[in-house]
Amino acid sequence: MSFRSIEQLLRRNSKIKISQSIANGIHDQKEERSVQALRESLLATNQLPEKFDDHHVLLRFLRMRGFNVIKAKEMFLNMLKWREDCAVDTIAKDFKFEEFDALKRCYPHGFHGVDRFGRPLYIERIGSVDLSKLMQVTSIDRYIKYHISEQEKTLSLRYPACSVAAKKHISSTTAILDVKGLGMNNFSKAAREMFIEIQKIDSNYYPETLHQLYIINAGSGFRALWKVLKTFMEARTLKKIQVLGTNYLSTVLEAVEPSNLPEFLGGTCTCSATGGCLLQDKGPWTDAGIIRASKVRLLIR
Ligand SMILES: [Zn+2]
Repeated sequence: MSFRSIEQLLRRNSKIKISQSIANGIHDQKEERSVQALRESLLATNQLPEKFDDHHVLLRFLRMRGFNVIKAKEMFLNMLKWREDCAVDTIAKDFKFEEFDALKRCYPHGFHGVDRFGRPLYIERIGSVDLSKLMQVTSIDRYIKYHISEQEKTLSLRYPACSVAAKKHISSTTAILDVKGLGMNNFSKAAREMFIEIQKIDSNYYPETLHQLYIINAGSGFRALWKVLKTFMEARTLKKIQVLGTNYLSTVLEAVEPSNLPEFLGGTCTCSATGGCLLQDKGPWTDAGIIRASKVRLLIR
């Protein structure tokens, strides 16, 4: 059965129509015109793979480039080239990160539920990272591959599942970075290089997937480090970042319900059944029914 006939079959089902409107979201007319211009330009040069022929994907590149179609196209093509050069599809499909458990022990991080809007919530306790241990359990190269595979999982699984669960289009993440104890002294050259490389990948090839980043427990040591780090970041990304001290809770709770915030950050969740909040990738993307619904949605996109 061809994709087109599957599409025709699915369109007859009214329930699917509802999820289709969630998938597509509500399109702004001006944005729609820019997306069409970018789409036609890419199609004219045969540079739009079916996988990326999507309103929201193209819109992310346009937004990142201030709706300049030529610049957005250049950015999009750089992304395609990077995917080819780094074999990103192969990483997404085949990369096995055997050191995952060992990494989690010396570098607490992970997705944990959703924010109040329904976006995935990502939490990282970078201040608690044992860097020498981290470099023993993995390498920068493998860590970057792991990061890419997680980004791919977010695009292909977490966002579609969150969109179904929230009944609206979700294509960005809310993140909390706990920098307690982090400063110039314990952020080594290797760690800085890794941070910069990951920043580069995220802003160049996964633009506009960050909704908001709360940096919490920032002390004077971190603020000195931050002055250096932010020179490597795009102005658009910096606008989405709030650097907060120890009185962060009321600001974070505006975006996240206490039940979705781990107890160690001032919320009420302990994930006691699974050994801790950052260990189990909790969220709508682990619900079998939601995953099924989001796969149907992708077929009719
Ligand atoms: Zn939890």
